[in-house]
Amino acid sequence: SPTSKRSYSITLLPGDGIGPEVTTVAKNVLDFTGSLEGIKFNFREMLLGGAALDETGVPLPDETLSVAKQSDAILLGAIGGYKWDKNEKRLKPETGLLQLREGLKVYANLRPAIVFPQLMDASTLKREIVDGVDLVVVRELTGGIYFGKPRGFSTDENGEESGFNTEIYTTHQIDCITRFAFEIAQKRRGKLCSVDKANVLEASMLWRRRVLAIAEEYPDVELSHMYVDNASMQLVRYPKQFDTIVTNNIFGDILSDEAAMITGSIGMLPSASLADLGPGIFEPIHGSAPDIAGQDKANPFATVLSAAMLLKYGLGEEKAAERIDYAVLDTLNRGFRTADIYSAGTKLVGCKQIGEEIMGLFGSAV
Ligand code: ATP
Ligand code: MG
Repeated sequence: SPTSKRSYSITLLPGDGIGPEVTTVAKNVLDFTGSLEGIKFNFREMLLGGAALDETGVPLPDETLSVAKQSDAILLGAIGGYKWDKNEKRLKPETGLLQLREGLKVYANLRPAIVFPQLMDASTLKREIVDGVDLVVVRELTGGIYFGKPRGFSTDENGEESGFNTEIYTTHQIDCITRFAFEIAQKRRGKLCSVDKANVLEASMLWRRRVLAIAEEYPDVELSHMYVDNASMQLVRYPKQFDTIVTNNIFGDILSDEAAMITGSIGMLPSASLADLGPGIFEPIHGSAPDIAGQDKANPFATVLSAAMLLKYGLGEEKAAERIDYAVLDTLNRGFRTADIYSAGTKLVGCKQIGEEIMGLFGSAV
């Protein structure tokens, strides 16, 4: 939550693959923005994921979690890679991230999907459909079917095996994520679409009832409801109709990936995972991209934009966040591209140079 102090401690979790390359750029951009805005950052780099497994034998060392908990925000690169794919479940890099989310109780996951006009041809959808898309999916992250009990396998008297999970939400959980989403919608274009399956699922029926009740606190926000099957269709049919979408854990998992693909550029999309109290986690939505790791080919924009979300949603430093958003747009306008977003007539550069271009702009902007 926003504070008035102008010195912040940031836990840096570079992780694996391209993680260290993209977080280095984002860290430099944060430092530079801070120097222009009178903000001081104290970074502490810690181990998470495969890097942590190799050094300590666990994907989330206790020390990483305790340092993260005491900091003001967490900037994360990416975790995982082929090297650990055959590890047992408990010792996978991904387990470290789940444990970190649990440990920090980050129940609200924000994934903006923005179509950059400079990169419109990256989308597989037609220009007229994606032009101007600017939406955010607010996904409930710590409840629902991924955590619900009972869960497991059972075998009946005939030897027939079943697997089962439980979709379950309490009013408290729904109220928290709903209020959170209304606040976001209020700061955006004032439109909230709640996505559920209230025609079939009891957990969704309660969800819809609670969303309607909470809506009375936000008369200035225009609320709509959509069944998830329709929402997944509407997202590719006419994505511009959406501003803020709020939904449960599993629907949000699927819809936020779908929304990301509308933009066509995985290397451009940031995310934030937030708690009511304590620090949030800010990370690009892409993975560790082991195929291009260590080659200075990674696109650092998603992590830089995650750093902007860190400033805005994690520290309440909106002006500094806007400075970064603006510098990213300007770097694109000046034609600088990494390979994943390159097109004819633009300038192909590496990860490091993108960082330098972003900061070069800061220099000329003051
Ligand atoms: P996850 O770790 O979520 O399972 P994944 O293995 O499905 O991720 P990524 O690691 O995101 O996928 O990589 C998918 C493809 O996108 C790869 O070819 C990778 O090189 C490319 N890619 C991902 N992130 C970036 C980036 N920041 N810059 C350039 N290319 C990227
Ligand atoms: Mg991967």
